[in-house]
Amino acid sequence: MPTPRIAPARIRALQHAEREHFLATHPASLALGEAAQQHYLFGVPLHWMRDWPSPASLFVRQARGVTLTCADGLDYADFCLGDTGAMFGHSPGAVAQAIARQAAQGLTCMLPTTLAPAVGAGLQRVFGLPMWQLALSASDANRFVLRWARAVTGRPTLLVFDGCYHGAVDDTLVDLDPASGATLPRPSVLGQVHNHADFTRVVPFNDLPVLEAALARRDVACLLAEPALTNFGLVPPAPGFWDAARALCREHGSLFVCDETHTVSTALGGYAQAHGLEPDVLVVGKAVAGGLPCAVYGFTLDMATRMAAAKATAPEGHSGIGTTLSGNALTLAALDAALEHLHTQANYDHMLALAEQLEQGLASRIARAGMPWTVTRLGARMELQFMPHTPRNAQDVREHAQTEMEALTHLYMLNRGVLLTPFHSMLLVSPETGAQDIARLLAGFDKLLAELATN
Ligand code: PMP
Repeated sequence: MPTPRIAPARIRALQHAEREHFLATHPASLALGEAAQQHYLFGVPLHWMRDWPSPASLFVRQARGVTLTCADGLDYADFCLGDTGAMFGHSPGAVAQAIARQAAQGLTCMLPTTLAPAVGAGLQRVFGLPMWQLALSASDANRFVLRWARAVTGRPTLLVFDGCYHGAVDDTLVDLDPASGATLPRPSVLGQVHNHADFTRVVPFNDLPVLEAALARRDVACLLAEPALTNFGLVPPAPGFWDAARALCREHGSLFVCDETHTVSTALGGYAQAHGLEPDVLVVGKAVAGGLPCAVYGFTLDMATRMAAAKATAPEGHSGIGTTLSGNALTLAALDAALEHLHTQANYDHMLALAEQLEQGLASRIARAGMPWTVTRLGARMELQFMPHTPRNAQDVREHAQTEMEALTHLYMLNRGVLLTPFHSMLLVSPETGAQDIARLLAGFDKLLAELATN
């Protein structure tokens, strides 16, 4: 059977119809958007909130479990889940109760609360590493870890993979020039004045010889990496890649920092633990405390000794690491509840089983329609990729980019009560996701395939 080719004009016609439909069915969101325009840049409290493919912002009235209700009273089955922040569902009961209890007993004191030791023990139980520090976002945690890594190794250089995203961390906002292999500033980044190529090296994912060459210069403080690329299309590691990459870091004296902010959706305690990656430092943000702003970084005892020595030998004064509200009382309470009630095997069993069902449902429909598309899954998260194979690296994703098809799919599903992640078609399954949510998504996808088949 020949592969169906979707005419660009058909995609544009559908997109037009979907935009009209959205505008006609969301008068309350449109009115709020107009009012918000008076006070917010681009009409939203964070300008990324306009990076969704809908013609206007969807304003949220309520989010509970995986049901999001917009200002117009319409319900959505949420597979975006705040781009992972709400991975365990919106307002999980145990966390909401812990927050309410703590709210009456102090929000922030710049002192540890009595819960601190139990939370540390909980972090070790879930993620395996013995020592911890807290931050308020994964971006912050990564920035702080980079300082520690450079301080303890005395080496200046950071190594990252092409297509990486580790948050608003200047050193990591770089791209690979595919022709020369050089590290380039990411052109979209605003207000950039430093030349990060001086201290950051970027290499393609899944390419051991290039990684080895970059480490062999022995100036690399750390390799900062997600176990799979999740921010540039979902790109899983090739078999054996991490065993070899991990060994190369050790051989060349570079730390391995594993950013599990997204891949915590792989298995209880994250990908690194499930696959024996043995990072020196592990970063988890977003969902770690059930959606309350919090990030944690954990490290080995050896790393802790080296960090303490670096601090002890530095002159008195600002370390450049930490923010005033980090580890605050409210966050500790939420994290405590999340570690006990959300990071559980039962939750992951549910997420993984349903994610597998959803993957099969999508894959069988794609095969039946003969579309050159792929579903790539890593635990509870998956991506619908408009390319014929699972990508091998960021360049592979760039070469197959189909931004119009992605935008159409997002808006089409939104108009059928299903929320996908806006930046690429990522779907995340939570402990609160039910069979009815999967059915709603697959019904919408069936309709989309049928419409694409009609010219
Ligand atoms: N690390 C990874 C792997 C991420 O995906 C993200 C955000 N998408 C971050 C760090 C930064 O998280 P935040 O925006 O919450 O600081």
